[in-house]
Amino acid sequence: MISPAIVSSELDDILQKAVEGERLTPDEGVTLLQSHDLTAIGQAADAVTRRLHPEPFRTYNIDRNINYSNVCAAVCDFCAFYRPVGHKEAYVLTEEVLHQKIQETVDLGGDQILLQGGLHPQLPLEWYEDLLRGFKDKFPQVNVHGFSPPELWHFHKVAKLPLETVLRRLMEAGLGSLPGGGGEILVDRVRKQVTRGKVLTDGWLEVNRAWHELGGRSSCTMMFGHVETLEERIEHLDRLRQLQDETGGFTAFICWTHQPPVQAPWFGRDAAQGRSGGVDMSQLPAAGAFEYLKTQAIARLYLDNVRNVQSSWVTQGEKIGQMALFFGANDMGSLMIEENVVAQAGTVFHLSLQTIRRCIADAGYVPRQRNVHYEYIDEFPIPAETDEETADAATLPVLG
Ligand code: SF4
Repeated sequence: MISPAIVSSELDDILQKAVEGERLTPDEGVTLLQSHDLTAIGQAADAVTRRLHPEPFRTYNIDRNINYSNVCAAVCDFCAFYRPVGHKEAYVLTEEVLHQKIQETVDLGGDQILLQGGLHPQLPLEWYEDLLRGFKDKFPQVNVHGFSPPELWHFHKVAKLPLETVLRRLMEAGLGSLPGGGGEILVDRVRKQVTRGKVLTDGWLEVNRAWHELGGRSSCTMMFGHVETLEERIEHLDRLRQLQDETGGFTAFICWTHQPPVQAPWFGRDAAQGRSGGVDMSQLPAAGAFEYLKTQAIARLYLDNVRNVQSSWVTQGEKIGQMALFFGANDMGSLMIEENVVAQAGTVFHLSLQTIRRCIADAGYVPRQRNVHYEYIDEFPIPAETDEETADAATLPVLG
């Protein structure tokens, strides 16, 4: 147990430093994670959020999460989604089905698809290129936010081509931006314990670095509350911050708590075969709202060079997702028309567009729809009584 007196003065100094825009050290980040003063940490994160986003808006976007295939050559102990080649439940969606899903997204006002799948051991790079070209031919206005760094690393291994070549070819075929999936905790000790056959820390970062160097943008993530230590949580944030210093290519950070896979068809088998590194992740207690809000707030304070933080209502639900707007988040994330991966782990919340907008409005902000670059894309009626300053803010894009 940490002495509240020591924590209080030390904590105040660290929080003040962050609020004033000074960079936190890894030790200071760990001290914050060791603290239980959620109120003080949340207030500091909110002050930083309001400094970075003084506009009266908080944002959301409308996209559809399309999992084009559940076939995966990797084994992740927290994943109930993947199936091996030949399994009776293994699938690869046809182009026709994919086009239908995109059309439905467009009909609902969406401008983006989040396209992700398992690490398919057989699909060649040309299959992905053809898929992207087909999307762009039919839906040129839709951004493909697709292929997590582990998938892209896998494509480069399967194609036996340099990573930069793979990324350039996919960009030319129509890939718009990268999601930050598969980051989990960017510390190899942790990654080796909970995943096998999946890219390690340097590879995950290298995919993002190469993509940013091509002029691309991506988001970054953290899945925490499993086998990592608090020091490793900060090491993860530090690796992201270092890369952002180098490239400036991350548009946003999103974190969520590990969701124990209650429907995991594989875990028991993997554990029995000793493939899990001895960790039964289905038995790990899920981190609660306290830990989620605290960690997100600390990430807001630590990642001084990442402009946007998204709430993860998909894993936390409506109420905590809304509270996240006061713990460092300036964005409610996506309407998320479809979410298979988290749903199969047994935890998923569905919010309607109306609910997302209400969550933002009830928190005292004006809801605005944005694109992947955090530019407003909705028609925004500026009320007559709005003062000049607010009217100006309404016309300014939020830069990602
Ligand atoms: S999390 Fe991704 S890489 Fe890991 S097993 Fe599931 S689909 Fe495969």
